[in-house]
Amino acid sequence: MTVNLDTISLQRSSTIRDALAALDRSAMGILLLVDAQGRFERTVTDGDLRRMLLDGKTLNDDLTTLPARTSVVLQSGYTRRQALALMQEAVINHIPILDEDGRAIDLIERAKIDQQVLLSTPHMGEAELEYVAEAFRTNWIAPLGPNVDAFETEIAAMVGVKHAVALSSGTAAIHIALRLLDVGVGDVVFCSTLTFIASINPAIYQGARPVFIDSEPESWNMSPRALEQALLAAKAAGQLPKAVIVVCLYGQSADMDPIVALCDRFGVPLVEDAAESLGAKYRGRASGTFGKLGIYSFNGNKIITTSGGGMLVTDSAELAERARFLATQARDPAPHYQHSVIGYNYRMSNVLAGVGRGQLKVLDERVAARRRVFETYKSELASIDWLEWMPEPEWSFSTHWLAACVIKPDAPITVDKLIRALSDEFIEARPMWKPMHLQPIFADAEYYRHGNESVSDGLFERGICLPSGSNLTDGQIGRVIETIQKLQ
Ligand SMILES: *Cc1c(COP(=O)(O)O)cnc(C)c1O
Repeated sequence: MTVNLDTISLQRSSTIRDALAALDRSAMGILLLVDAQGRFERTVTDGDLRRMLLDGKTLNDDLTTLPARTSVVLQSGYTRRQALALMQEAVINHIPILDEDGRAIDLIERAKIDQQVLLSTPHMGEAELEYVAEAFRTNWIAPLGPNVDAFETEIAAMVGVKHAVALSSGTAAIHIALRLLDVGVGDVVFCSTLTFIASINPAIYQGARPVFIDSEPESWNMSPRALEQALLAAKAAGQLPKAVIVVCLYGQSADMDPIVALCDRFGVPLVEDAAESLGAKYRGRASGTFGKLGIYSFNGNKIITTSGGGMLVTDSAELAERARFLATQARDPAPHYQHSVIGYNYRMSNVLAGVGRGQLKVLDERVAARRRVFETYKSELASIDWLEWMPEPEWSFSTHWLAACVIKPDAPITVDKLIRALSDEFIEARPMWKPMHLQPIFADAEYYRHGNESVSDGLFERGICLPSGSNLTDGQIGRVIETIQKLQ
């Protein structure tokens, strides 16, 4: 954001006419008055020049009589937070940055200083509005409609499943999945511990008891070893889980082959929470398609969004049909309103499905962009040996929905400090998900570790997610990199 200071710097020997012309050319609304040695003296605005003219000076008079004034200045090493606070306090929009000799080396502007770099924001393509407009034109606003049907068909074709059911959220999709598997009061549900609480909330809605499974170090996702221990213990205790919910974290699939094999061996149905991993692959096959049921989320921060929404996928026509039934208040096939079971109002609107269809067209681009963000961080910060990036096993094609890394135990900085340093530069970073077995609400839940030490505890203590949106500019990615490099 460096500006050419030569064009806006002038001395007291300059005339008011020169000063006005310089202001006019630069369009910045501010000039820097410097002494004969080039040292910064004060800022000059058009208000200062206007007051000189009103005092009786003419355009040909020089700036000798301009009063001395102490301007707010900064030296390099300032944070954006400090700069903005100074600007707000002094009610100014510019601050010159001086070197040790008092020479201006930069001029920072409020409008640029206060720009945030956010973690993951919606990134619309070009087709979304067309589909939404079509819904308006045909008055297919609600309920359901052609966009919903097409969105389902398009998703199913893209990930390679027979059926997809568009729902109001990823959470709703998990809830329906558990209802389809008949999860009820007193049942047990296994779930990855390192996840967002939405993975397990629906099990609690159903009155089930959660058991949490640790991550493994290779993918940071569910440890097949810990899952086997948990299944063996459950079998010995005489109560196998009604479902295993495996989460594909931050855009990366879990190691599905051994997990599917274990679920088959014990006869437990698998639900794949691929809310964060649409577009990812496991051994070439789409993430989300390995369980009996899979779910995706189109929440605002996910890789593509419908502003809010979700999708349930399955190869079973029977389950898909039952899902649609449960998601539309479970109306029996009767002309009057008749109900034999309890359902939900969980379907996606036709307007939002239009947004989803547009987003789906650019999914591959969004995946490529997020992968590029991750690769850029990784290569540009390769010299920082206390950072360790989320591994991508050879069987994985990750979308890197969030660019995740951990700070090694011997690092000269803590996660808190790193997040604060980024926040002082108006960069949003987050700790990793707090594992479910560490949540106060699940303090009593059973938990199975990968080994002697809990892998997920370590990831939570030392993990951080950096801005990862597909719409980040090179300048924004550069800001993140620069801020971290300064901490070396
Ligand atoms: C976002 C998310 C969900 C929930 O999806 P919503 O559409 O927000 O309800 C579920 N599981 C995981 C792992 C998620 O990240």
